[in-house]
Amino acid sequence: AQQFGMTEALEALGVKAINEGTSTGNNWFSNGDVFESYSPVDGQLIGKVKASTAADYEKVMQSATEAFKTFKLMPAPQRGEIVRQFGEKLRKNKEALGKLVSYEMGKSLQEGYGEVQEMIDICDFAVGLSRQLHGLTMHSERPGHRMYEQYHPMGIVGIISAFNFPVAVWAWNTALAWICGDVCVWKPSEKTPLCGIACQNIIAEVLKENNLPEGISCLINGDYKVGELMTHDKRIPLVSATGSTRMGKIVAQACAARLGKSLLELGGNNAIIVTPDADIKMTVIGAVFGAVGTAGQRCTSTRRLIIHESIYDKVRDAIVGAYGQLRIGNPLDQNNHVGPLIDKHAVEMYNNALTKVVEEGGKILVEGGVLNGAGYESGCYVKPAIAEAKNSFEIVQHETFAPVLYLLKYSGDVTNAIDVQNGVAQGLSSAIMTNNLREAEAFLSAAGSDCGIANVNIGTSGAEIGGAFGGEKETGGGRESGSDAWKVYMRRQTNTINYTTSLPLAQGIKFDL
Ligand code: NAD
Repeated sequence: AQQFGMTEALEALGVKAINEGTSTGNNWFSNGDVFESYSPVDGQLIGKVKASTAADYEKVMQSATEAFKTFKLMPAPQRGEIVRQFGEKLRKNKEALGKLVSYEMGKSLQEGYGEVQEMIDICDFAVGLSRQLHGLTMHSERPGHRMYEQYHPMGIVGIISAFNFPVAVWAWNTALAWICGDVCVWKPSEKTPLCGIACQNIIAEVLKENNLPEGISCLINGDYKVGELMTHDKRIPLVSATGSTRMGKIVAQACAARLGKSLLELGGNNAIIVTPDADIKMTVIGAVFGAVGTAGQRCTSTRRLIIHESIYDKVRDAIVGAYGQLRIGNPLDQNNHVGPLIDKHAVEMYNNALTKVVEEGGKILVEGGVLNGAGYESGCYVKPAIAEAKNSFEIVQHETFAPVLYLLKYSGDVTNAIDVQNGVAQGLSSAIMTNNLREAEAFLSAAGSDCGIANVNIGTSGAEIGGAFGGEKETGGGRESGSDAWKVYMRRQTNTINYTTSLPLAQGIKFDL
């Protein structure tokens, strides 16, 4: 990866050979075991990170608690100005950070840059929002009374993120949390810790330039045990966790046990319905990008294609044909379409899925396999595969975080396809390809898709920051990013003010002394 300027990128981002894994801003320390980050691109060691211990975490929490005392009093538009400056720094660091995302996570360079662009976009969004944290005014039923509601800063927000969006998910949370007056503690995925170090270096500079206290942006590193310190901690009113459904169930219970809030962004099992009225060319682009982009490691990746029987053969042949064109290789090389999986464990899960689908009666249409030899030394490069399957197969019901696409056939009208689409435990992203208005509206109606995201004539993969992002059922129900997602980061208060000399009670209750 040297030829792609990785050394310079790491230097520009302040990522060293061995990094302290705990930070309160400009202070860095750590007393835990050292763990390593290897690139799935070439199998090389990128750097090491010292994990956070319980004592390190305690220092972080003290710093964050102190910082919140002053940060919550700073006017929201001034907090917006800090986020604006953060967005500017991200613009300056876009190339270096995008490269690191691509090298440490394995997504294409374009997607690495895209992820940083998403961070910049959410900063812009948050800056505007910092002047629009509106509450309603209500008419009181009592004379001489006024009612309104306000949103106050909530406290320390804990962020737990997944490997596949190693930087953007943090920004989706922090940009909003900061303008809301919260301070943040972030535990990045243990598979992409250096992306976390780089991001923290960028925001630390902004905080220093503005003479802001330590504790507004904190970083802790390590595996799930470090995450558990936050989920069990009463001082953290909100834990925002992105990752597998398995993790989300544990996090939700830990937070609920102390009546804390959790914002969950978990696994998907996303489908595209292809009706007889679909534009086949658009369908192929949407489905193939959705299934193989980021090597199938997006929460919104397309896992299932639900195709009407009348056009099934045509769509199948077009997609199988398109898979023949895919170039698999180093994601930093922009000629390639498909990069590696994150690690060998992911490769094992991919292999398991392909074995299982055959065991359950599925038929492989495009063979998978692990690639070896020059350029594939990391052992993480796999061939995108396609299998004909049934929605009832156990493996189809399950999210395999790899480029495995299942083709499912439906007959009759679109309601049958919607039943199949909804017939899984997850509810993140969904799409229909059709030029038939009735089908499109049925899909978007109350009887339609049960997912948090439902698209017409675009695929399932990816989303813009302007909308609220998240999904239902086992995807966890959380919403992040645009629309009114900011409200979850604030504490809501209803106020009633009496400007008379008497004290009338609500509901006309009389209480005379
Ligand atoms: P993962 O669940 O293995 O890990 C995610 C994070 O949770 C890591 O930081 C991990 O250390 C932490 N964690 C795990 N167990 C924990 C526990 N008991 N307590 C506290 N923290 C714990 O997920 P992953 O493999 O990194 O990411 C892939 C998964 O993330 C997929 O299922 C994908 O769909 C999902 N994802 C969802 C979204 C979304 O917005 N819905 C976005 C990205 C990824």
